Amino acid sequence: MALIVQKFGGTSVKDTERLQEVAKWVVKNKEEGNKMVVVVSAPGGMTDSLIKRAEEVNSNPQGRELDVLLSVGEQISAALLSMAIEQLGHKAISFTGPQVGIKTTNDFNNAKILDISPEKIMEKLNSDHVVIITGFQGADENGNITTLGRGGSDTTAVAVGAAISADQVEIYTDVDGIYTADPRVVKNAGKIPQVSFTEMIEMAGKGAKVLHCRSVELAAKYGIDIHLRSAFTWEEGTWVKGDEKMEKAMVRGITHVKGLAKLTITQLESNNYLSDVMDILEDREIDIRLVSQGLNPSGHFEISFLLEEKEAVRVSKLIQEKLGNKENIDVKLNLGMVSAIGIGVRSNRLQGSVMRILNNNGIKPKMMSSSETSLSYVVAEENVDKLKRLMHDELIEKSLSA
Ligand code: ADP
Ligand code: ASP
Ligand code: MG
Repeated sequence: MALIVQKFGGTSVKDTERLQEVAKWVVKNKEEGNKMVVVVSAPGGMTDSLIKRAEEVNSNPQGRELDVLLSVGEQISAALLSMAIEQLGHKAISFTGPQVGIKTTNDFNNAKILDISPEKIMEKLNSDHVVIITGFQGADENGNITTLGRGGSDTTAVAVGAAISADQVEIYTDVDGIYTADPRVVKNAGKIPQVSFTEMIEMAGKGAKVLHCRSVELAAKYGIDIHLRSAFTWEEGTWVKGDEKMEKAMVRGITHVKGLAKLTITQLESNNYLSDVMDILEDREIDIRLVSQGLNPSGHFEISFLLEEKEAVRVSKLIQEKLGNKENIDVKLNLGMVSAIGIGVRSNRLQGSVMRILNNNGIKPKMMSSSETSLSYVVAEENVDKLKRLMHDELIEKSLSA
């Protein structure tokens, strides 16, 4: 007998037929003698349409109210799944995040889980219930509903798994595993049987939205293996587990992000202003993906940030206000980033191969960065898919066939 947490994403619970399939799978696992906790996302597309509704009535909705609204989608899935399981003759009970004591920070729309009380979950498991919990949400210390950021139900599942010391955390989705690149963009992408926490944190952080990055960070912290698999074929998927040691540089996957902007502040007399700029970015919780700084040919300091396009214009205005108008701020929109992920990828050979691809295809990088676990290239958004396929060909397919 095992204590199992299963999480089902939006497409897996999007309509009655899907919910019934999920209910059958959960019941099958329970009948095999396991204790079952299920975390659900909102039906596919619902979170997007709720955000759209909010923006129709208010171009900049209050974070608190947005969270009250967004939390509804997951409640619909949880209640319906509970009913579907009861229909199959098993006891089930649904809870919202706050009802099972998921306490979070008060950062509306992007809250972090602080604590989960396992008592209520364990009590219901011990009275033979399937316990269903809404993903993506909790409450702050004043009882306000909060949400965890887009894709956050994965993080709920792993956090619940840690709180109840689950034997297994399974994340079910609409692909049958983690691939060497998004299989919807790169047709030749291959399924990876096992990936380390470090590599998966890099992949998720650099655009592979198949897992919420914080869910993998939590799994690594608590040593919980994640099994990512299909809610359609139910076959064995990909295991995300502790690091394996590898001597040889190996590219595990290629990821991409679109909708980015590069904000450059030029002609800075000194870098004294940088702390002010950093404070603005920190106060607004702006997600900075890359930073580069240096001296330009006239001897002035220059700093560039890579951030979400939708935040760039707002942030540039704030910086302009803070620094006065004398500084030059330049914003380049329509950028994307392609990254090669793997332990030890900062090898000259790999970087040389990518430079050759860029040169041969006339693609000019706007920013680059390298670390032990990733090589990233910022290019015009229109070149992202092409670069991704070329890098996948060169760094993954060729080396597999070598
Ligand atoms: P869910 O709603 O189940 O949480 P998501 O849409 O968040 O599902 O994540 C699954 C999607 O992630 C897939 O449909 C796929 O297009 C995308 N994806 C991006 N990168 C990868 C990758 N490297 N491997 C597998 N899927 C990926
Ligand atoms: N429903 C939320 C979203 O669409 C959370 C999730 O699916 O994980 O982002
Ligand atoms: Mg997801």
